[in-house]
Amino acid sequence: MLGQFRNSPCIVKEANLIFHNMSVIVRFAPSPTGDLHIGGARTALFNYLFAKKNNGKFLLRIEDTDKKRSTKPAIEAITQGLDWLGLKHDGEAVFQSQNSARHEEIANKLLELDKAYLCYTSAEELAEMREFHEKKGEVFRFQSPWRNKDNSQTSTQKPVVRIKSPLSGEIVINDLVQGEVRVKSEEIDDFVILRNDKTPTYMLAVVVDDFDMNITHIIRGDDHLTNAFRQKAIYDAMGWKCPEFAHIPLIYGADGAKMSKRHGATSVIEYQKMGYLPEALRNYLLRLGFSFGDLEIIDDAKAQEIFDVKNIGKSPSRFDFAKLNNLNKHYIKEKNEVELLDLASEFFVKKPNEAEKSRVLQAIHFVKERCDNLENLAKNLEIYFDNFSQKLEENDQNLLNEKAEIIKKIIKVLEGVDDWSLEKIKETLNNFANENNLKIKDFGPALRIALTFSGKSAGGIFDVVFILGKKEVLK
Ligand code: GLU
Repeated sequence: MLGQFRNSPCIVKEANLIFHNMSVIVRFAPSPTGDLHIGGARTALFNYLFAKKNNGKFLLRIEDTDKKRSTKPAIEAITQGLDWLGLKHDGEAVFQSQNSARHEEIANKLLELDKAYLCYTSAEELAEMREFHEKKGEVFRFQSPWRNKDNSQTSTQKPVVRIKSPLSGEIVINDLVQGEVRVKSEEIDDFVILRNDKTPTYMLAVVVDDFDMNITHIIRGDDHLTNAFRQKAIYDAMGWKCPEFAHIPLIYGADGAKMSKRHGATSVIEYQKMGYLPEALRNYLLRLGFSFGDLEIIDDAKAQEIFDVKNIGKSPSRFDFAKLNNLNKHYIKEKNEVELLDLASEFFVKKPNEAEKSRVLQAIHFVKERCDNLENLAKNLEIYFDNFSQKLEENDQNLLNEKAEIIKKIIKVLEGVDDWSLEKIKETLNNFANENNLKIKDFGPALRIALTFSGKSAGGIFDVVFILGKKEVLK
């Protein structure tokens, strides 16, 4: 394939020089019309892992030829999403719109090779024909009267360029995920490759760019499988070797419908905002469609070692928030105190001062045990902020009222503790219990509510008292 490469303009040419000897080159090719969708993120991840596993290159191509729908904020949102997920691409990003001269050049080449033709049928004529056939209940398959006409014949219409799709035989794709898929050539119409304003269609641009970027494997959503047949027709017409295809099933919601906003967040950045860790989302997205025995926890190193398109399932996967939460909990637990403080900081109501920070750092090791997202972690750590308070739940308020007298006594006792150490607090509270013929469980829950404004805060009661410190406890 590399031997077939011919010089082409702009960035693409440099990319080829740099990656000339690489065996595997894949790309993620989003159209910048919105945020990075969770499905797109998984496609990017699979491409990334495939490149890593095979010591290849992972390229990024922004497919911004549709000027009306492509926006700068969307390009930023996509790169921001990829950055956050840690899917770093190799080399410079390629912007498809910069390659339009090259796309036109190939359309002209196909005309020269008699593999394409100028078609002067207007949009109105096409609509009329469609209506005519549809009224008769027939499937409309356009057969251009211009396919076999001499190109020197002209019309006042500006022509489009249409590919001459093969009239007989079959187009066969050996998809690495879907297996062998074939379609009769007659089902592929003479689709447009260059519009009458000389802009390329997606079908042409994607093939030319993939060829020029020396892409060896195209891994993408299976909603593109039908496009693959048309794209193969262009490769064949140019005499280019077609990359391998791997069309991966789409992501569905719990109800089996295509994942959309009503199932929950669809944009990667929303997951960041909800307090998911990128490594947890990577692990989850990998497991969503890919399996390696029963292995659930697959960290980056393992993923890069075991990833194989052969282990991507053929059937659609359903997004399961409970599984994602479990993985997030796992990766939160793996982090040390300092990393977690840093991550939780994004979610704190305010920047903690030094004293608050030090209390939070002491509490993190037990608080992290029960949190499955960073927002939750931050909430559970904020109880160690100065003057923390929040509205009590009714049950908690009732318990506190019931035990008000005991709590007052405890506070008095704690006031007398000079050496504020965990041991001393344990000893003091145990003595208090013994002297009053009580058990810790008789006042622990109420004391917890009094100190943390919640009966559900994390950690043993001795730890909570100790970490809060004398000043906060007495307050
Ligand atoms: N730009 C296309 C999309 O965002 C992807 C094209 C491709 O991967 O071939 O759906």
